[in-house]
Amino acid sequence: MIANTENLRILSPVNGIVDLTEERSHFQIKQDGAWTTTSPFLRRVSNYETFLEDCKKGALASLDFKDLPLDKYFSSFQKTDSFEIFLAPYSRYNNLPFLSIIAKEMAEALLEFSQMLAEIFPNARIHNFLNTSGLSFTHPDGIPEYFISKHSKKDIKQITSDIESRKLMYLGPETIFHILRMVYYLEPFTRRHLYVCLVDRKGRIDTESRYFFLNNGQSLDFIIQNFDKRYKVASFESMYESVSPHDIHSLGNFNIYQHNILVLYERLPVIRNAFPCIDCFECNTYCPTDASPYSVIKGNADDFIKSRCIECGICTLHCPSGIDIRTKIVGAKLA
Ligand code: SF4
Ligand code: SF4
Repeated sequence: MIANTENLRILSPVNGIVDLTEERSHFQIKQDGAWTTTSPFLRRVSNYETFLEDCKKGALASLDFKDLPLDKYFSSFQKTDSFEIFLAPYSRYNNLPFLSIIAKEMAEALLEFSQMLAEIFPNARIHNFLNTSGLSFTHPDGIPEYFISKHSKKDIKQITSDIESRKLMYLGPETIFHILRMVYYLEPFTRRHLYVCLVDRKGRIDTESRYFFLNNGQSLDFIIQNFDKRYKVASFESMYESVSPHDIHSLGNFNIYQHNILVLYERLPVIRNAFPCIDCFECNTYCPTDASPYSVIKGNADDFIKSRCIECGICTLHCPSGIDIRTKIVGAKLA
């Protein structure tokens, strides 16, 4: 269940959309029951206003930027302004093949959506990478600032500023998937894919693709029955982020706004005291934006180019001394 109210979301295993009444004294449920994934395609003519209304009704959120309702995102771009729209082929960690899913199940809807965007934002320049052949994903290609910078050949700092000042709009394939579901199949954002990844006791990742399409608020207890009892620890963060471990028996409920990956560990990598930096320079070598994380470790934070750091976590993953570079660079960025 999703509440269309400011800063309030209700998690429930029951599907539906709930709004405050006009007097803001009661909640009213507009729809209830289960949505199937087999609703028929509806060719609908939208304009700017009806599209914003669909985003609001469907409780759509950007799945590329955190905590960003799509009705607010689209309405922050004025329909008469000139800006650039990037339709990108990758979600943040690209765990699931949303482009293939869209191509297989929603090709007609995607075509309609691309045409609708051009009509409701007539002055926008659309860069459509959804059908571009020859691209192959490597992290951090799914981080919006990085993707746009790479394909527009502009500096990350400029791109970050243009994203914030709404000169650039970014829509990744998971966000587009849910827009299409709402606008052309009338299925609100009440379900999301959860990708499950297994890591054995030696830290080896099982790369078989496993995912579930789950209701918001659904209990995650079924995970315990579906996976080998060896996997006792779970985390909703990817390998590139700081891991907050959970006992697999206390996963709680699925939150579509926060969860899209679940890593199950046989045992968590040993959290050891970091060894001293051995000046191997791997962090700088692997940094995709040349931000110089090594400077932070060496106490020369002024040489760290914080405007270029996209917090991709690659430097931390490659450090042979196990130094938590991520935490140090976040601190340096705040300083
Ligand atoms: S400094 Fe580290 S987190 Fe920042 S962009 Fe470079 S590799 Fe990524
Ligand atoms: S990767 Fe780790 S050990 Fe190597 S230079 Fe960077 S901080 Fe030092």
